[in-house]
Amino acid sequence: MKTKSVFITMFLSVAPIAAQAQVPPICNDLARISCAPGTHKDATGEVISSSTFQKKMADYAEKSRGRIEERFKKYLDDPEKSYFKDQALAAFGLKKSPQCLSESSEDQKSCNDNLLDALTTLTQRQIMGSMMPMAGITQGMNLKEISYVMHSHEYQTVVSDLSQQGRVDLLDAKMEKKIQDRIFPDIKALIAQRIGQLSIPDAQKKFMIGKIKGIRFDGSDCSDMTPNATQGLSPLLTPNAFYNPTKNIFKYCSGFSQQSNSEFQIAMVIAHELSHSIDPCFIGYGPQDLGFKYQNKGATEKLEKQFPFRNVISCLRRSDSIGAKKAAGTFFAGYGHSHGAVGSSDGTKRVEPEPFCDADQITESFSDWLAMEILPSYIEKNHKLDQRQYQDGYANAYRMLCWQMDPNNPVGVHPNAAERINKIVLSQPKARGQMGCPERHSEIVYCDSEVELPAENEQRGTEYPAIPAPGAGGTQ
Ligand SMILES: [Zn+2]
Repeated sequence: MKTKSVFITMFLSVAPIAAQAQVPPICNDLARISCAPGTHKDATGEVISSSTFQKKMADYAEKSRGRIEERFKKYLDDPEKSYFKDQALAAFGLKKSPQCLSESSEDQKSCNDNLLDALTTLTQRQIMGSMMPMAGITQGMNLKEISYVMHSHEYQTVVSDLSQQGRVDLLDAKMEKKIQDRIFPDIKALIAQRIGQLSIPDAQKKFMIGKIKGIRFDGSDCSDMTPNATQGLSPLLTPNAFYNPTKNIFKYCSGFSQQSNSEFQIAMVIAHELSHSIDPCFIGYGPQDLGFKYQNKGATEKLEKQFPFRNVISCLRRSDSIGAKKAAGTFFAGYGHSHGAVGSSDGTKRVEPEPFCDADQITESFSDWLAMEILPSYIEKNHKLDQRQYQDGYANAYRMLCWQMDPNNPVGVHPNAAERINKIVLSQPKARGQMGCPERHSEIVYCDSEVELPAENEQRGTEYPAIPAPGAGGTQ
């Protein structure tokens, strides 16, 4: 084998250099372009830079500060609310200050201004949470004292009204409708179509298509995904998406819409989330008598062959593909539900973990792979683009992901972002064609479900360092 590969290398090295020079750099390293900072337009929308986003949020925080001030001003001017005012003055330590004790109108005004400032700051910290430079809600305040203010009806009314206003402002109703009415149904149909192309028993196809069709879009309000209510509106600003296997629903969190309206990015995220419903782990999730179940549990390579996308798992594990790894003996709480090889001294039956559910990058790699089987067709169906426009578009598909995650290190079960881009997105032949790249990448193999690749020479990697997974309650 060694001799053969040397021969091939030599043969390729005398291939015309001119022809190679014409290959756009993006065809060999999409991640480098995809991970670059800044605002990037494509023909379907744009991803805005982090600093533009921060400015947008600072403007919003300023606007909401004005609204909060207005609300409290009404209370403070209302003689019927004098108890609220006195309580607040006392709680913030202003009541016995010289300016507040003074009768002069100038002192009274600055006393009132300071009280208004304190109330507004407290409310804003609670609602805006991590958007504020000083995130601690009660920073610089006496927690015990101000808890009287925070429990008052007046304060709670302002917080609840402003939070509601925030939902209206930050949830993108138009985008939500576009996803519900067009993008989501389109992607479902394309996944069903792709499943239809597999050479597997009809019963397996029918089950997977049924499950995909059964997924419901649960909107873009992801506040309930974060258990800490004091985070206020910040969950609405965090770019994220979830598939929930128990409810068979997915959420496309509004934080994405704040920074991107590129359909490449939106369709990619949705296709990725829907793919999780039939990924190597969740395909087996559900009642015993329903759908797909692995046989002969235990022997990993045998299980890999049973997965209905026949040659995909073994291919994604290759070093010339994404090289999806599993961490032995660790468990990512963030991935779905509680599995684990648990034995008990009281004689409780040992429960084997569901295949591929524990600390295995294959679930994310598969979802990336299936998303890329869908994205080129989705874009082609909905837009008429030239090569340059496809290049800009595919560069935007994973841009936010690259910014969000460390591009060079795996995050939990997610392989590193740069490799997800270069080894999965960039190996897809149809996407390559659209971008004007040669159909095959020179180093990265395309994982074709219908083609079994010959065994690799090198040993398959099996372990990567265990990293605690972020969050729980679904999978990204
Ligand atoms: Zn995922």
